[in-house]
Amino acid sequence: MTGAAPIRSTCPYCGVGCGVLLRPDGAGGLSVAGDPEHPANRGRLCSKGTALGDTLGTRGRLLHPLVEGRRATWDDALDRVASRFSEAVAMHGPGSIAFYVSGQFLTEDYYVANKLMKGFIGSANIDTNSRLCMASTVAGHRRAFGTDTVPGTYDDLEEADLVVIVGSNLAWCHPVLYRRLAEARERRGTRVVVIDPRRTATADIADMHLALRPGTDVALFAGLFAHLHEAGAIDGTFVLDHTEGFDATLDAAATARPGATGLDPDAIEAFYRLWTRTERVVTLFSQGVNQSSRGTDKVSAILNCHLATGRIGRPGSGPFSVTGQPNAMGGREVGGLANTLAAHLDLEDPTHRAAVAGFWDGPRLADRQGLKAVEMFRAAAQGRVKALWIACTNPAATMPEADMVREAIRACDFVVVSDLFATTDTARLADVVLPAAGWGEKDGTVTNSDRTISRQRAALGLPGEARPDWAAFAEVGRRMGWPRAFDYARPAEIFREHAALSGLAAGLGRDFDISGLAGLSDADYDALAPIRWPVATGRSGGRFFGAGGFFTPTGRARIHPVRQEEPAARTSPRYPFRLNTGRVRDHWHTMTRTGRSARLSRHMAEPFLQIHPGDAARLGLVPAGLARVRSPHGEAVLRVLVSEAVQPGHPFAPMHWTDETASAGRIDALVEAATDPVSGQPESKASVVAIERF
Ligand code: SF4
Repeated sequence: MTGAAPIRSTCPYCGVGCGVLLRPDGAGGLSVAGDPEHPANRGRLCSKGTALGDTLGTRGRLLHPLVEGRRATWDDALDRVASRFSEAVAMHGPGSIAFYVSGQFLTEDYYVANKLMKGFIGSANIDTNSRLCMASTVAGHRRAFGTDTVPGTYDDLEEADLVVIVGSNLAWCHPVLYRRLAEARERRGTRVVVIDPRRTATADIADMHLALRPGTDVALFAGLFAHLHEAGAIDGTFVLDHTEGFDATLDAAATARPGATGLDPDAIEAFYRLWTRTERVVTLFSQGVNQSSRGTDKVSAILNCHLATGRIGRPGSGPFSVTGQPNAMGGREVGGLANTLAAHLDLEDPTHRAAVAGFWDGPRLADRQGLKAVEMFRAAAQGRVKALWIACTNPAATMPEADMVREAIRACDFVVVSDLFATTDTARLADVVLPAAGWGEKDGTVTNSDRTISRQRAALGLPGEARPDWAAFAEVGRRMGWPRAFDYARPAEIFREHAALSGLAAGLGRDFDISGLAGLSDADYDALAPIRWPVATGRSGGRFFGAGGFFTPTGRARIHPVRQEEPAARTSPRYPFRLNTGRVRDHWHTMTRTGRSARLSRHMAEPFLQIHPGDAARLGLVPAGLARVRSPHGEAVLRVLVSEAVQPGHPFAPMHWTDETASAGRIDALVEAATDPVSGQPESKASVVAIERF
């Protein structure tokens, strides 16, 4: 280890966005410690962050481009990509090509890819694996607030008197945030309620764990809305001055049946009373809410309760979405979803489109929504998408109905994959594979779940011929005929442009404003300390909406009527179980990084099925035996973990293993690609399956 000052960067895993201090060891590795000055973690790291140093190295890395499986120069590979994309546009129109990117992109990567597709190719066919993560929150925020605004900050978790955690195993999936909450609870007696069909480690600090029937969150929160009204807890002034839709929502709530949750009525009543009498409430939610065919309504059901009581935008109060990925938020900010425009502007708004078109000065701006993730791969399977660029993600393993997706990628005329490895389930299907720079090797910014923008900094050299993703997308843009628009030499140039565009958006009344950073010099950008948007003046922003001021045309938040509906897939005698999927503590996504750490792999070494003892006994499953799990879409063989943490009929399996890392453990092959009608987010937690002893 050298004695030089550490390099400040950000952990590449979850949306907590912890700051890290990196010290190169001079042999291609890094030591990693928590950054005591980063506001997200104040020096703390979880097991995954602590083990980051184990995950580096060039073993197995793709170090040069591949064209049709053979080594190629970057020039040849990029020429091939640009010419095949240009041909597809010329012959079949802009809608015949698509980009599928990633919440692990840096904001600068995202900005360039989105600009190329929406502003120059002229289609909105760019979507991201964040569609699988938090698209329902984006849709719920936009429906209620008029923009995709996270109202609060992490500090609210420490200032709340009650924190309600819905559909999140915070202890494993956002461990540092969980620790901050646990410490606040020790300090000031914060009450914690966990709402989750499964008993997870998060429930260890809960005063109340409500193990509701899967998919019944709307019934619970619509019932809470009605209860708040009956108890006289509505903030009439806030509702009158700052919201619309209250009466219709109350009418809908009057028909809510909280009993549909299957919870003890006394437990429901106790939860309602606690929520009602506590002024400072944070309702934190994650994938159990988002990954649902009714995800947007679930989000609305939660937001409604906060809006009706004015418990939003005040210290210790508000709904709070935590994102699964390190830069889902940055992707939202650049408009990297198929239904959004840059800088939180609206694709459907002609004024917004004109502003972005003028700013980018491209030949054609997309004028309608593009294909969302599930639609994109279905279109590829049907031959409507002729050319596809997949970057920084592995959809052949992680998309629902992954077998269908694998066939769709195979069927597509031309597929480019940018990745660190050429061996992923997806990269093996590509015509061109581009070697991407990874964490620790490239520079840029990310935004965490509480809107804090942090720098990721390079601490290691680029291995082989690897390049950052923004550089590959910019080079293709130049070769497709737009040299001036994609003439970027450094990420700082991209960031300045992104910040300047946000100023234009703010002028149109949008929330996302980092115009105070548009004038950063390269040196300022290099030195940029974590800063929370909005940043109009260079100072970190705080909460939104404490005094109203929503971003809808009327300036009022929309309280939206919601009604309980069942998950899309129906159980039957053939498929009697409902499968929940999720993460384990020490692995991340498809384990391309965490799988390299022996200590991380020790926690959960193989794919498993967590199943209730009653179900296991009935099926003749024994602990540590094997079970075959079948759905209408695929099958997997999993190690049996018998546990009372799951409910009868509702087993759980992790999502990390792929064909590359475990035979027959690829769980997303089983997941039904049923999507929320508003957000397009797939329902990853309620697929129907059959189980038998293997
Ligand atoms: Fe990284 Fe998330 Fe762990 Fe922080 S909590 S160290 S961001 S994985």
